[in-house]
Amino acid sequence: MLEIDSLKVQFPVRVQRRWTTIKAVDGVSLSLAKGDTLGVVGESGSGKSTLGLAVLRLAPVASGRIALDGADLADPSVETTLRRKVQVVFQDPHSALNPRMTILRAVAEPLVIHNVLSGAALEARVAELLETVGLPRQFLYRYPHELSGGQKQRVCIARAIALKPELLILDEPTSALDVSVQAQILEVLKSLQREFDLTYLFISHNLAVIRAVCRRVAVMYLGRIVEEGETERVFSAPQHPYTRALLQAVPVPEAGQPRRSGALKGDVPSPVDPPPGCVFHTRCPVAVAGLCDREPPVPRVLADGRAVACHLAPA
Ligand code: SF4
Repeated sequence: MLEIDSLKVQFPVRVQRRWTTIKAVDGVSLSLAKGDTLGVVGESGSGKSTLGLAVLRLAPVASGRIALDGADLADPSVETTLRRKVQVVFQDPHSALNPRMTILRAVAEPLVIHNVLSGAALEARVAELLETVGLPRQFLYRYPHELSGGQKQRVCIARAIALKPELLILDEPTSALDVSVQAQILEVLKSLQREFDLTYLFISHNLAVIRAVCRRVAVMYLGRIVEEGETERVFSAPQHPYTRALLQAVPVPEAGQPRRSGALKGDVPSPVDPPPGCVFHTRCPVAVAGLCDREPPVPRVLADGRAVACHLAPA
């Protein structure tokens, strides 16, 4: 359904009175089948949210192609179709809702903009959407400040599915919520996917959430995909040193358990001036001098179908 081919997203920035570019996404290729969920995981600054914004055409695409059902999203003639087919749920439901709008107006907005419904039919449809995400119709005339964080995120999800989209970009949809509420929102998303055959691009830094929700996962580092495959295979036997380090960084919940070794040190390098060769070599515990700092690794497809961009990946 969604095909991303060699995508590059760059932003102009001024560094010491000189204009240069941030390579936020640098040559990403991905595909996502209808009804499937692809997780995109990585540290802050890995480019995962920018990837989602590029699919929504809210980030400047420097080169590459994004196609939805075969239609190139750069084609202005598919703009209206795209707006209906692709919707987004952002991380922070507090800032995603206008505090001056009732819940009715907030959820009705896409239906009004696209001239789908009006009057009593519009109100009935919004009430139906609220019920779909587990909220009573009495919420129609409430304002966002009267709702909890979880209820606000349910409203945002109701608004996102109002136009019956096919693809939802879920950008850290549970990160701003309490753990118990996170589980409820994940259940809402799962049941909506079953009911409406929705396709999800699920962006998160939370590996547990990705494991619970996504059938496939793409691990991003400094704008590139370093490992991509079925979530259970990738998480149970990671093949890229960065994926291994991310998993080792997850805290051990049992008291008295030893701390895991091999967690990442240092920060992600600046995307303004990424390291030569493999961009991970400055933090990689197994980097090979003379190879990793010179030659960028070409992604290799392993026997189990996953792709790994590392010189040391098994053949
Ligand atoms: Fe580490 Fe080299 Fe593999 Fe990059 S290519 S992840 S530096 S071993």
